[in-house]
Amino acid sequence: MSSDSPPTTESSVPVEGPPAAARPSAPQAFTYRELGERLYSDLREAGYRRIVLQLPAGLTRNFASVGEEIREATGAKVVHVTRACFGACDPPSPMEAPGAEAIVTLGHARIPNMPIHLPTYFVEMRTSEGDLERMADAVQGANLPRKLGLVASVQHLDLLPRFQEVLRTRGYETFVGEGDRRLAYPGQALGCNYTSAEDVAEKSEGVLFLGTGLFHPLGLAFAVERPVWALDPLQVGISPPLDREKMVGRRLMTIAKAMDARRWGILASSFAGQDRRGMASSLVEKARARGRSAELLLFDRLDPRDLVGRDLDAYVCTACPRIPLDDGGSYDRPMLTATEFLSAIGERPLTPYRFDTFH
Ligand code: SF4
Repeated sequence: MSSDSPPTTESSVPVEGPPAAARPSAPQAFTYRELGERLYSDLREAGYRRIVLQLPAGLTRNFASVGEEIREATGAKVVHVTRACFGACDPPSPMEAPGAEAIVTLGHARIPNMPIHLPTYFVEMRTSEGDLERMADAVQGANLPRKLGLVASVQHLDLLPRFQEVLRTRGYETFVGEGDRRLAYPGQALGCNYTSAEDVAEKSEGVLFLGTGLFHPLGLAFAVERPVWALDPLQVGISPPLDREKMVGRRLMTIAKAMDARRWGILASSFAGQDRRGMASSLVEKARARGRSAELLLFDRLDPRDLVGRDLDAYVCTACPRIPLDDGGSYDRPMLTATEFLSAIGERPLTPYRFDTFH
């Protein structure tokens, strides 16, 4: 869910990450071109005999050729994980991949503070493509404010420093935030964590997202109280800000509908990077302390059909916060994020609206 479609071209130019000491020790990260270079030699050197390969939806049509390439280059047996992969947050579990010695996962950056049970090789899909002068023309043409926070999907992070420089020569002041420990890189947009934008929101008059699709602009609009523009570096199209007020208004209506709920289902996922079971248990306690009944429901990948027929009035999702925001309509009862739930039971005010950042 956190990924945009992979770019058509890739770059081997690594983005400078944060200083090593600033984040917990992280598994290996590769750019796509390094798939055939550094990655294979590392895998060979480690002597893995059984490797699990995980691809995002946009790359499944290449699954056989990628698997074959890794097999030929390393001599290891390659096993494919076939369930949908939404982000770096749901690596194959030991039960899904018995006997595996390493994981190769394409299309995502690592989540530095996520526990990992096997050596995991994250192959990021970067591109440095984008005509920076035309992009700056688009920014000027759309009359964006002079003080801008910049955020990018991992695919387009390489553009940030050079784009900042081009915008500077045109009189813009731009800011790139560090973000918290769930982000691998400064300026990175992750669907459940926009702390790099939040870090610089106060001194910015607006946020500019570099990337494709609406997934991140939507999340950013919930997370920062600033207008969010989206600039596609490949098409050089700029989208106007989403109507945050309307988006938040819809969420407030969903919260209002759930306020009278007596029986709550508190949902928690066992995926390594979506696991907030501790939080889920504390929400159960909070609901009960407020005179409601609450049951903890565990799952890995959530399917609306699994919840049908239960004696419940509303749900809270402590897993990926984008499930209630983007897919809430697929469920048979109102589904809230954790922060929305606290408002629904009177533990925090309804406004200002707060995005359920996954730290
Ligand atoms: S928890 Fe975060 S990384 Fe995982 S699917 Fe949701 S938005 Fe993407």
